[in-house]
Amino acid sequence: MDTGGNLLLDLGRHWLMGFGNDMVRYIIAAPLTWLVLCVICAPLLRHRKIRPDSPPAMQLVVEFLCSVRSVAVFSTVSLLSIVLWKAGLLWGGDWRENAGPVWIVVSFAITVVAHDAYFYWAHRIMHRPKLFRTFHRRHHRSHNPTPFTAYSFDLAEAAVMASFTVIWELIVPVSWVGFTAFLIHQIARNVIGHSGYELFPAGKDGRPMFDWMTTVTHHDLHHSQAGYNYGLYFTWWDRWMGTEHPQYYARFAAAAGPRQPALATAE
Ligand SMILES: [Zn+2]
Ligand SMILES: [Zn+2]
Repeated sequence: MDTGGNLLLDLGRHWLMGFGNDMVRYIIAAPLTWLVLCVICAPLLRHRKIRPDSPPAMQLVVEFLCSVRSVAVFSTVSLLSIVLWKAGLLWGGDWRENAGPVWIVVSFAITVVAHDAYFYWAHRIMHRPKLFRTFHRRHHRSHNPTPFTAYSFDLAEAAVMASFTVIWELIVPVSWVGFTAFLIHQIARNVIGHSGYELFPAGKDGRPMFDWMTTVTHHDLHHSQAGYNYGLYFTWWDRWMGTEHPQYYARFAAAAGPRQPALATAE
């Protein structure tokens, strides 16, 4: 077979591997979180439920199908990384393939921080009126989110989200192991952030114990009242840019404070 045919076969194999790996992560994270939090532990966690109502079953089905489509887009965009790697354009190959424990941990940490910044700004730009319909409407059709909402994106949003990987890998020779840890962290935080149950602990004053991290209430408020709370992992960018919801602490305390009733209204 000629070189072009071999390259196509190789890219097809990488696409299937990427699709399989992403789907496994999503299928483990989303249905498992839904089963544990929204079904098995629902009676125990009822005081932690952010909204009293639950979305209809059909919403979960649509979210799942849209997420499969998003994963297909992720795999397609990530082929760019493979092409760049094979073309020798990703520098620092040894740092990526044979990283020691320090670079693995540092790779993980700086990738999470960089992705948080990328997500905040890409997300905020996608909320501009001219872009929202094309890029971000699908995600906000889930007014009351579920763990399955995590990857429920329009095609264009899925491409924007996947592009972070290619851009970041071009800039920094992140360890493959550290990057895999980042992917696991990303889907875990994403799924939990859409779960509808406030799982983060509150301090004595009712505020989040880890106030620098986004809580479930933080992103839930974004779905109920877009225009606030664009951040993904950390509260930093929303606070620096003045886009945190003014009632965030009160809503968090209602869901996570001791013996507080669940939030009674959804906007
Ligand atoms: Zn949004
Ligand atoms: Zn969301």
